[in-house]
Amino acid sequence: NSAVSLDGVVKTYRLGEPVHALDGVSLEVPRGSYTAVMGPSGSGKSTLMNLIGCLDTPTEGEIFLDGQDVTRVSDRERTRIRGEDVGFVFQTFNLMPRLTARENVALPMVFRGIGRAERRERAAEVLDSVGLGDRLEHRPNELSGGQRQRVAIARALVNDPALLLADEPTGNLDTETGEQIMDLFEELYERGNTILMVTHERSIAEHAERIVHLLDGEIERIEQLSGVGR
Ligand code: ADP
Ligand code: ADP
Repeated sequence: NSAVSLDGVVKTYRLGEPVHALDGVSLEVPRGSYTAVMGPSGSGKSTLMNLIGCLDTPTEGEIFLDGQDVTRVSDRERTRIRGEDVGFVFQTFNLMPRLTARENVALPMVFRGIGRAERRERAAEVLDSVGLGDRLEHRPNELSGGQRQRVAIARALVNDPALLLADEPTGNLDTETGEQIMDLFEELYERGNTILMVTHERSIAEHAERIVHLLDGEIERIEQLSGVGR
């Protein structure tokens, strides 16, 4: 089965005039695939990410994450699924300023009840895998933007999620640093991770295997890319 599957997803916000933020979206995200989502402001990108990330529920339709129906479960269960199956990467990194890189990466494991020694070891291992093996005890303000984003990516990966969900992951980085993060995503993709990334930059989206174009809450088209080495 797919990492993510959406079937007839509708999201309507009702504050006054109803807004159909998503209006019948069906999409399969295969395991191990790399998808970018693009679309103009207001097209529904954030709504789509929030629904797939189990931060919100659809008005109609079904969403499956790693084979589990996340639309018909309790809030508590949805929170558990979010913690275990989704790794979030944000434009603004969202690291804890007082914690070291290693502590930031270890945090999601605290909520799973994993013991201290194993957390420390696993955090170091994942930081090493994103090229930060020599920055374990640095705090965010002692790291560059690109390094901070690598810490955030390591944190997203630490629970071995079914899906890496990235919202404008290069939005706060200069072009060269952004490209380095894209090199890392490519490596993660080659290692078998499933990546879904929202971006408004075409040059960033082109690193993916395919681009889902959203327009007015609907999938306008899906563009298959044949990148080098795929
Ligand atoms: P994008 O991320 O592509 O800019 P959004 O998903 O944020 O698009 O928004 C899609 C539509 O839904 C827009 O018309 C927006 O105004 C509306 N919308 C988004 N979130 C809310 C909300 N919490 N309440 C009411 N309307 C919303
Ligand atoms: P230290 O002895 O280094 O201060 P702590 O005893 O505070 O460490 O935490 C043990 C380990 O738990 C940390 O090394 C880190 O890997 C992890 N950790 C995860 N989240 C936190 C947190 N919020 N505060 C402290 N440690 C955390």
